[in-house]
Amino acid sequence: MGETREVVLVGAGPAGAAAALGLARAGVPGVLVLERQALPRDKACAGGLGPKARAELQRLGLWEQVAARAYPISGVRLVSPGGREAVAAGRASAHVLRRRVLDGLLVEAARAAGVEVHTRCKAERLLWRAGRVVGVRAAGQDLEAGWVLLAHGATGHLGVAAEPRPRRLLQTCLGWYEDLALRPNTVEMLWDEELAPHYGWLFPESDRVANLGVCIAAERLGRRSVRALFARFLERQFGPRVRAARQVGGWLSHPISVSTRVRPAAPPGCLALGEAARLVNPATGEGIAQALTSGRLAAEALLAMRAGLPEREAVRRYARGLSRELQLGFLLGEAFMRLGVPALDVVVGLARSRWLGGLTSDAMAKM
Ligand SMILES: Cc1cc2nc3c(=O)[nH]c(=O)nc-3n(C[C@H](O)[C@H](O)[C@H](O)COP(=O)(O)OP(=O)(O)OC[C@H]3O[C@@H](n4cnc5c(N)ncnc54)[C@H](O)[C@@H]3O)c2cc1C
Repeated sequence: MGETREVVLVGAGPAGAAAALGLARAGVPGVLVLERQALPRDKACAGGLGPKARAELQRLGLWEQVAARAYPISGVRLVSPGGREAVAAGRASAHVLRRRVLDGLLVEAARAAGVEVHTRCKAERLLWRAGRVVGVRAAGQDLEAGWVLLAHGATGHLGVAAEPRPRRLLQTCLGWYEDLALRPNTVEMLWDEELAPHYGWLFPESDRVANLGVCIAAERLGRRSVRALFARFLERQFGPRVRAARQVGGWLSHPISVSTRVRPAAPPGCLALGEAARLVNPATGEGIAQALTSGRLAAEALLAMRAGLPEREAVRRYARGLSRELQLGFLLGEAFMRLGVPALDVVVGLARSRWLGGLTSDAMAKM
């Protein structure tokens, strides 16, 4: 074993980077992030940033850099399973930014604050002593740490369940298209009958390029192929537009790990963050803001402990903070899904009215 670090983080996504940045800026020395991929990296993600993500990025002092690179969104086109359509101009604005860029900015800010980031360095397993996690084995080395923060997203596995209940997954597939006919500054969300209560989307990243994708509950997809489902969706909803556009790169499939109850659980010596703790809205599949929030709260909990707060109380404070900030949105998301397919036709119908359209998109931004 080498030196013992105060904190080692697994994963350089928004959760890990935000926590590392918060800790380093507060003066914690030697914060180390382990990232299994080379950086900057693409992440299968539509890159939608709503008001909550914006607020977190403002807190980190990074919003101006993000806004300078992101594509602003001021409208939404909604399509219901029954084929009703509405274009609503919301008061809440959103942005779309490729994850390679967003995550790159976060990691660069963390590095500038003194965080060490080891890339192409996969955490293989946790190190244990007397029932407590005391570090990580990575790249053939044992790294001891006072705290290990698990921010490895939906697909990292280190042998601990960050939540006691069985996982609930959405399956997704997305691709990028250039020179697609777009409504400027408008996202499209389509509760296609094969996906509802989940949806497919078109998120423009510029006036010329958009990402299109689908998400569907794993149990609804069953043994069918998500790529074949995506192909059918594209043909049904975007046929002529997609045929006239140029596909950029291949399609990506990636699971999303969602929850309704915010209940992060990790063994002593560990906190679980972001999608590793399943902090993703079950209806919308949004997890960037939630990952940033959990990174901020985890850093605050560790800093409180450094200032003398007993460990149990700091861990409780982290869980209470997550619950306070995220639980309502998850419950609203679950309720929205339970309304069922006929209600989606009503929601889209309401969105056709200018005033109700504003309210509908505001309500969706709160989820
Ligand atoms: C198709 C799709 C579309 C989405 N669209 C949106 C959207 O528009 N808006 C939104 O808010 N959310 C969206 N999400 C959800 C969002 O992408 C995630 O919830 C978010 O990235 C979670 O952040 P995170 O930091 O917890 O994990 P991640 O961003 O997944 O980062 C985890 C990091 O950990 C690394 N890692 C994993 N295992 C290890 C290991 N063993 N050792 C070292 N490193 C490891 C990974 O390489 C990765 O870099 C979407 C998801 C998908 C799949």
